[in-house]
Amino acid sequence: MPKVEETRLEIDLNALAHNYHVLKSNLPANTQIMGVVKAFAYGTDSIVMGKKLVSLGATHLAVAYIEEGMRFRRRGLDIPILIFYPQLEDLPKLLEYNLTPSVYNFHFLENLNAALIEHNVIDFPIHIKINTGMNRLGFDMTDVNRLTQLLSANKHVKVEGVFSHLSAAGMPEENEFTQLQIDNFKVAVEAFKRNVNTSFIAHLCNSSGILSHPEAAFDMVRAGIALYGYGNNPEEQKNLQVVASLKTRIAQLRVIPPGSSVGYDRKFKAEKTSKIATLPLGYADGISRIYGNQKAEVLLHGKKAPIIGNVCMDTLMVDVSEIECKEGDEVLIFGKQHTALAFDKEKQSIPYELITRISQRVTRVVINKE
Ligand SMILES: *Cc1c(COP(=O)(O)O)cnc(C)c1O
Repeated sequence: MPKVEETRLEIDLNALAHNYHVLKSNLPANTQIMGVVKAFAYGTDSIVMGKKLVSLGATHLAVAYIEEGMRFRRRGLDIPILIFYPQLEDLPKLLEYNLTPSVYNFHFLENLNAALIEHNVIDFPIHIKINTGMNRLGFDMTDVNRLTQLLSANKHVKVEGVFSHLSAAGMPEENEFTQLQIDNFKVAVEAFKRNVNTSFIAHLCNSSGILSHPEAAFDMVRAGIALYGYGNNPEEQKNLQVVASLKTRIAQLRVIPPGSSVGYDRKFKAEKTSKIATLPLGYADGISRIYGNQKAEVLLHGKKAPIIGNVCMDTLMVDVSEIECKEGDEVLIFGKQHTALAFDKEKQSIPYELITRISQRVTRVVINKE
């Protein structure tokens, strides 16, 4: 078997810079950009991406969990990092590593407050999350009055940000709902300005918000998927460049006669003489079994080849009958010239899931560092 290093994820920093500038140019000039680098920077490389985003001008980073934020601190990044999902047991680490929690309920706020009193901390920066319609995390609009009263009398925390999240910013057919969320958010922001402080950063937009509703940019935006080159509709996708390309090489080629089968459970049966290439990556590398049996296509010498049979743990097979090729030839699973959307031709998932699932055993190779 060839080594797994034959399979690699190529990360193009020029493409990241390009996308950053596309987003920037879509926004009012003074809008700050928070680079969302959760889940290994959407499956790429957290530290490389975080550092590049800072050098491009991002003023904040955001991750999901505290461990992700601590990695940046250990690697010397000292810009503000928002933790979307802090846990109660993280409180000492939030203080120690100077990470900013998203605070989305009273229970967490009370516990945070107690920890700050215990450690004699004042003005600890927090971002308050408001639920404007997503119904995932956040204080409800009906909590805002009580919340702002509590916070106005609290010297231990400092409200550095107030934010919310859009549910369907990339769906034009949901624009009315998005507008309702924007209006709710404005109401919450005004209440904080009146009752808490006037200098916090208000932020609402994710990538689709930036690209499809830039009028709702407020003070800062949280850019995720678009930085990595994917939009949530063709219009958003138009000007972006895919950052990460998952590549491998043909491990073995064989020609099989009609009636032969390929792979576990004999799911592919050749109707005619067929040329089959085995590729050294499988579901343990992040290519789900849902993509077996002609549900996805890879790119080989500029031509599309379907995945046939069941995807194995470490390998998958593609039908290359119509393609001139040899063992060792490079194959693009998905990436710049063949996006995750093209790979997932039956739209069984979304680029977010495809790219964040590329497992850590796949070697990351960074290109265009300067
Ligand atoms: C992941 C995430 C983002 C980034 O969303 P994209 O659609 O990838 O731009 C922004 N805000 C929150 C709260 C998130 O969880």
